[in-house]
Amino acid sequence: GMAKIFRNFLNLLDCSERDTLTSLLNRKSFDDTFFKATRRAAPGQASSGHMPTSDHRQAVLPSQCWLGVIDIDHFKRVNDGFGHLIGDEVLLLVARIMRSSFRHDDRLYRFGGEEFVVLLHAHDEQSALAVFERFRRNVQSYEFPQVGHITVSIGCTGMRSNDSPSAAFERADKVVYMAKENGRNQVRCYEQQPEFAGSQDQGAGSEI
Ligand code: GH3
Ligand code: MG
Ligand code: MG
Repeated sequence: GMAKIFRNFLNLLDCSERDTLTSLLNRKSFDDTFFKATRRAAPGQASSGHMPTSDHRQAVLPSQCWLGVIDIDHFKRVNDGFGHLIGDEVLLLVARIMRSSFRHDDRLYRFGGEEFVVLLHAHDEQSALAVFERFRRNVQSYEFPQVGHITVSIGCTGMRSNDSPSAAFERADKVVYMAKENGRNQVRCYEQQPEFAGSQDQGAGSEI
């Protein structure tokens, strides 16, 4: 009896942190898992204070946890052209492509609408970019029933010491916007944008 109650309790907990359509983690659980992921990435680092460096690249934690924001391109056209149900199916299939493109221990979220977030570990900027690039290609080449081909724009950023979930998300979201402005269907890394060079103060947890 107790085991059954406990199992139900665990199910409830699980439901409250997952998106009902895709069963990816939901936005609500992002803050919690963000701190777990960054702590795991950098034992003893997460609370070690602001890194005294003038090079924005070095502000990224040495253990390299990366956050990617994924936004489906022109998703409104899918809904408008094929209806909301087909739109939902596309969201479901994108979540499936995410599961098969990223690793088991990467954390996958649906943030709402047609926007997704990934937390992953990579040795450096190049390998993080390569992982997101592979996912971008997997989406591009997938034949969605009725809809055909769709694309995604992705922005990623490296975690910093004392980073906050909202600050990291904002950095990645800024480069998604740049990807959208520059033709969509591409991956951009915040740390590689000359516009943001030397702006580590913005992302080091000072915003909240
Ligand atoms: P962009 O390339 O600039 O991202 O264009 P977009 O059309 O993807 O972006 P926009 O933000 O204009 O539209 C997003 C659309 O996503 C609007 C809304 O109808 C749709 N949407 C949001 N949530 C859901 C959902 O749960 N299911 C479905 N089917 N559609 C959704
Ligand atoms: Mg969007
Ligand atoms: Mg979109």
